[in-house]
Amino acid sequence: MRPQSLTPLFAQVTSLPGIGPRLGKLVEKLTGPLVVDLLWHLPFALIDRRNAPEIAGAQAGTIATLTVTVDEHLVPRNPRQPYRVWCSDETGRLCLTFFNGREDYLKKLLPAGEIRVVSGRIDLYQGEVQITHPDHVVPLDQRESILRVEPVYGLTAGLTQRPIQKAIAAGVERAPELQEWQDAAYLARNGWAGWKAALAQAHAPAEESDLAPLHPARARLAFDELLASQLAIALVRHHNRTVSGRATKGDRRLHKVTLETLPFELTASQKGAVEEIAADMAKPERMIRLLQGDVGSGKTLVAFLAMLIAVEAGAQAALMAPTELLARQHYATIAPLAEATGVRLALLTGRDGQKQKKETMRGLADGSIDLVIGTHALVQEEVEFADLALAVVDEQHRFGVHQRMALSSKGQAVDLLVMTATPIPRTLMLAAYGDLDVSKLTEKPAGRLPIDTRTLPLERLGEVVQGVGRMIGPSSSSPGARVYWVCPLIEESEEVDLANVEERFQLLSARFPGKVGLLHGRLKGTEREATMAAFADGRLSILVATTVIEVGVDVPAATVMVIEHAERFGLAQLHQLRGRVGRGAGKSSCLLLYAQPLGETAKARLAIMRETEDGFRIAEEDLRLRGAGELLGTRQSGLPDMRLADLAAHGELLQAARDDARLVIDRDPDLKSERGAALRTLLYLFRRDDAVRTLRAG
Ligand code: ADP
Ligand code: MG
Repeated sequence: MRPQSLTPLFAQVTSLPGIGPRLGKLVEKLTGPLVVDLLWHLPFALIDRRNAPEIAGAQAGTIATLTVTVDEHLVPRNPRQPYRVWCSDETGRLCLTFFNGREDYLKKLLPAGEIRVVSGRIDLYQGEVQITHPDHVVPLDQRESILRVEPVYGLTAGLTQRPIQKAIAAGVERAPELQEWQDAAYLARNGWAGWKAALAQAHAPAEESDLAPLHPARARLAFDELLASQLAIALVRHHNRTVSGRATKGDRRLHKVTLETLPFELTASQKGAVEEIAADMAKPERMIRLLQGDVGSGKTLVAFLAMLIAVEAGAQAALMAPTELLARQHYATIAPLAEATGVRLALLTGRDGQKQKKETMRGLADGSIDLVIGTHALVQEEVEFADLALAVVDEQHRFGVHQRMALSSKGQAVDLLVMTATPIPRTLMLAAYGDLDVSKLTEKPAGRLPIDTRTLPLERLGEVVQGVGRMIGPSSSSPGARVYWVCPLIEESEEVDLANVEERFQLLSARFPGKVGLLHGRLKGTEREATMAAFADGRLSILVATTVIEVGVDVPAATVMVIEHAERFGLAQLHQLRGRVGRGAGKSSCLLLYAQPLGETAKARLAIMRETEDGFRIAEEDLRLRGAGELLGTRQSGLPDMRLADLAAHGELLQAARDDARLVIDRDPDLKSERGAALRTLLYLFRRDDAVRTLRAG
């Protein structure tokens, strides 16, 4: 159970002063629903209001806090004109300007004849000193409350600084003093403060340098987050190792049949990966291995061969995919191979009918089904296996540690194989998985032709449409090329984005009636599948889509990829998208359409795309161009959601956290010591309850 001391941090944000239900929703969208989420939202800038000149000395462009007498209100006759309030001190006049100002409100805020303290950005308007929409207006006796440095927070539409500042300050106030969980010597060596003091400091920057990631307060908080994450990973790993393992040895009889059935040879790295996996599974310890390989490198087949080892050993295996679409696709790939080998295969997703689901679950429980492919429906409580020996998670980074664990907890000492298509640089790998065994698929299957990649300005859209028309051929003839047409999500508003995709869909449909399909995240699963199926079997020639197709969609006959506004995509994403073509025997091409003018980074990205198809090289370049911080922060990276740590800046802290976590596991694996108890609190603080649970279970 979460320690009592943390209760105030796990209250809803609406329990904070000034955050009602309406703001609560916005804050939730910005940071998350709980006080602790808001506390992890550190300021990204500051406003120094300590500069308090007289009017004559106020510099345009600076923030100033001025003490003035209110002279006169100039109420505009035309509401489109600004409302002005003239003020003065002994040295000159100051004009406060409000657009859409409400008279009753402003007269109350700034009563004529009285003294007010105002703070805001100074500008000059027709030679007069002016502040447009002052940030603060308070009576003289509250002057001290604004003569300070204000933290500035990232916002979302509809939110303003003031309520966020207030709520965070109140949250910091409520934060408990917690028993120190860091190693005393390490803490002293770094000169770091205790947790609460560091939190308060991080939210109260006094100078620019206080915002630096390596400022002691921020570094301490970042280390806490990294330590929690590394410790959680290490605990789960330790727990898995100590649960008595099983040796799963296959006799390769099913492998033999499969390889004979396949119309091609395994690549050298596929063979290597299968051997590494087989060796791991044969050991009595539990396997935790990452299978890394570019899109199209043939991971699914490796996974299937691994699953066959479990079946050869008389046990079961499961493959979990992040989406319904992918689960069905894996099923479609694997089903014919399973049939050829006489292995009983089932599909389990949230969308199956009750009867179907029951039947599958019965088969899994009584062992009459050998292999199952599914979505997270697989980890539901009622799903039981007769004897699960291997869990394969095709995660594309979408599952948390918790779900991976949930699947492997469905059996005794289940071996775990995680597949990922994103080549991850070493630091990021450590952050995501701790120390982990990795198999890499480095070459593309034989017979694949390189993809012809070109970049074109968007102005040439017309030519592109014509070219696409030639490639898909006249409607009467045999199916021509199959084309993906990707529109980015670029606006804050999903509505606007969808409108863009739909507009492109309309345009292309008008040009190629009946040959164009539309795919985006808002469509129902069944609609999406129907569209995908029509595209896969050639009834549709063009698929207009948002990036939903990025995740593993497999239509080998598709040979053309058009990406609009390619300059808005990250390298990893462009690479993933391009990987949707070039999967079959046909010659493929990729057209990257960009809006001018191109920034330096975008230019560099597009150049790399033209130059190489090597995913590992692209990942390194991506990291170089973007910095780890951004890689880590984005959904695409899929790494654990770090709120305080930035791997570009905190790489060394990550190493230290990893070492510290190892030491803890060596000395006090059950977290029974005094420090151990504090570390449990740390785990709860960062919501690693899953890891704490392994303690009790073990
Ligand atoms: P990934 O999951 O790594 O993106 P897949 O496993 O989906 O790649 O494989 C992509 C395609 O390549 C599939 O159609 C698969 O049948 C085919 N394939 C896999 N291995 C080979 C190979 N060694 N030679 C030729 N084709 C292969
Ligand atoms: Mg795949």
